[in-house]
Parts: sequence; structure tokens; C-alpha cells
Amino acid sequence: MQKSHFSSFHPPQRKLLGPGPSDVNPRILEALSRPTIGHLDPLFIGMMDELKQLLRYAFQTENEVTLPISAPGSAGMECCFVNLVEPGDKVIVCCNGAFGGRMKENVIRCGGEAIIVEDPWGRAVDLDKVEAALKANPDASILAFVHAETSTGALSDAKALAKLAHDYDCLTIVDAVTSLAGVPLKVDEWQLDAVYSGTQKCLSCIPGLSPVTFNERAMEKVKNRKSKVQSWFLDLSLMLGYWEGEGKRAYHHTAPINPLYGLHEALCILQDEGLENSWERHRIQHNSLKAGLENMGLNLSVPEAERLPQLNAVIIPDGVNDAEVRGELLNKYNLEIGAGLGDSAGKLWRIGLMGYSANTGNVLYCLSALKAVLDI
Ligand SMILES: *Cc1c(COP(=O)(O)O)cnc(C)c1O
Repeated sequence: MQKSHFSSFHPPQRKLLGPGPSDVNPRILEALSRPTIGHLDPLFIGMMDELKQLLRYAFQTENEVTLPISAPGSAGMECCFVNLVEPGDKVIVCCNGAFGGRMKENVIRCGGEAIIVEDPWGRAVDLDKVEAALKANPDASILAFVHAETSTGALSDAKALAKLAHDYDCLTIVDAVTSLAGVPLKVDEWQLDAVYSGTQKCLSCIPGLSPVTFNERAMEKVKNRKSKVQSWFLDLSLMLGYWEGEGKRAYHHTAPINPLYGLHEALCILQDEGLENSWERHRIQHNSLKAGLENMGLNLSVPEAERLPQLNAVIIPDGVNDAEVRGELLNKYNLEIGAGLGDSAGKLWRIGLMGYSANTGNVLYCLSALKAVLDI
């Protein structure tokens, strides 16, 4: 084969206002370029310990088992399911968007039985339906739900869902990929048992890492498993040998060293801003985007009380060509917004205001670019 020659890849500077990744804070990009050191270097191990502590703040938890999985949010999801679901386990899965469907698939692949509680896309999970399913399935051991459904822009009541689950003696598996740092998420206060998140949404870090946290109740179930976790890589007990232990770490895999510098920096930024201030910033920017869109005659699809500030599902006006508009925004304005998924393809845009992307300049830029492209 002939040798090919490519020069370095230089991506343009886009504004990322889609469902993720969000714009990466330049402080994080700088942290990523710091010298790579060994993953068993005492200085690196010290940084890993700080990371766990910073993650506990972000999740609002004292959970000992709190760490970033070396793979994207989807792997965090899989980590929760493979460790907690054993063959024959009954799991109630709330499906109100694309990610609930993936949870169901995880349960089935673990040999579990998935009981589906279905809600329309674009709506929060219905508590009454969940209670009916818990009542009808007293042998269920887990309730799984998505806190912030990025596929639709709907926020569910994680606190109330966890309370219901515990009333019926179930553990909870919670998808907090998009909620972490964007809306209130209180793992200990709400007693969420196993929670996974991602780095490329409201933390504004690069994609490819998945913070998870397990409380003692969840770890009890993991420790009492009758069968081995079928995934070697995602087996928590093996992973903990690497992330825990006083001064003595067992090699499991080579941690993604520089990406972890990036996550550490992202969490320092969050700590500097303050979690409550971050939630508030997302809310404020959402309100100005909403006001601007409504001024142009555009509406959001999710009922007001169930809306995510960091993911705005906008109804595409009749006669407007979805792909053309998004293409023009990208090519002419270097602006990325998201398309609708599933049934909402061609009917909705998903405008993300996540992490570093959630600022006044971006809201104004997005509104004026949309105005120009739509010619209104
Ligand atoms: C983005 C996302 C995921 C998956 O994260 P990846 O990093 O893309 O694997 C899972 N759940 C929700 C709600 C998400 O928004």
C-alpha cells in the first residue's frame, strides 16, 4: 500500500450548543496539555485522591465509592447495571426518552427482567405509574430512571422517585449524565443508590470519562452477588483495587492520565464557581434563551414545570427544513445545535446550554444566528 501523507488536524472553533459535547473551558484544554506522568507515580495517585473528593462535592455525597470510569457516560451506565443486576433480577425501568431504552437493553443483557414504565417523550416520569409498577412487582429489586433526559429536554423528580423506590424496598440506578452541575442533584439527601454521569455535558470537560458513585446499600448488593460480574473491565471490585487502598494500588488498566487532569481542572472550576451558582447560571441562561426564542415566535416543547434549563427542545416551525437550517448554522456560523431523535427527528431542535457554553454571549449569538438563518 502506498504511504499516505496527512498534515495535523486543525478543527475550527465551533460554538457547541447541542446535546453534548459542550464547549470545553480553555482552562481545561490547557490542563490537558500538561506533561504526562506515570499512572502509579505518587503525585498522580495524590491527584486521583483529590479527584474523588472533588467528585463527592459535585455529586453532594460522602460515598466512599465515588470515582471516574475511564470511558464515556454509556460505560458509567453499563457499570451500574453489570454490577447491580444479576441474572433473574427484576428491574423497573422508566422509559421517557432514548436513554431509558438503553437502560432496558442493559437489564436484558445482564440476564435480568425489565419491567417498563412508559411515558411520552418530552414528559417527566409519571410517579403514579411508577408506584403502580412497584406495587404490581413486589419482587423487583431495582428502579432505574433518567434524571435529565437529554433526548427530549425533560427533567424528572429524582427525589420523589428514590423515595418511592425505597418505600417498596428497591435500589435506584440514576442517569445523571446531563443533570450533574446543571440542575440540583443531591445524591445523599435524596438517597440515590447508584448514580452515573458524564464529563462532556455540564462539566464542560472532554468526552470519555464517566463519574459514578455507589452508596453502601448499593455496595452491599454488589458484595453479595452470587455470580461474577460478566464484564471484567467494569467489575467494581477490580476497579476499586486501583482507585482505593492506602499507598498501594493494584494495576487494573492505565488511567487516561491527561483526560483526568482535565476532569480535575473541570471540578476545580466547579468548586470555584460553587455548585449552587452553576445551577443558577444554567437557569438564568435558559430563561433568556426562552424569552428570545418566544420573541421570534418559537416555542419549547416540554411543559414548563418539567423543563431542563440545559437542554431546550424547540419546536421547528412548519415549512422550515431542519437539516438545511442546522447545516447553515454550522457552516456559516460555526454553531452546532442538536437534531431531534426518534419520533421528533425533523420536528425538534435541541439547543444545549451546558457548562461553559451556558453564557450570555452564546445565548445572544444563537438567537441572532437563528434569526438570520430563518429570516425572521
Ligand atoms: C450523553 C448521555 C449519555 C451517554 O453519554 P456518552 O458520554 O455519550 O456515552 C447517557 N445518558 C444521558 C442522559 C446522556 O445525555
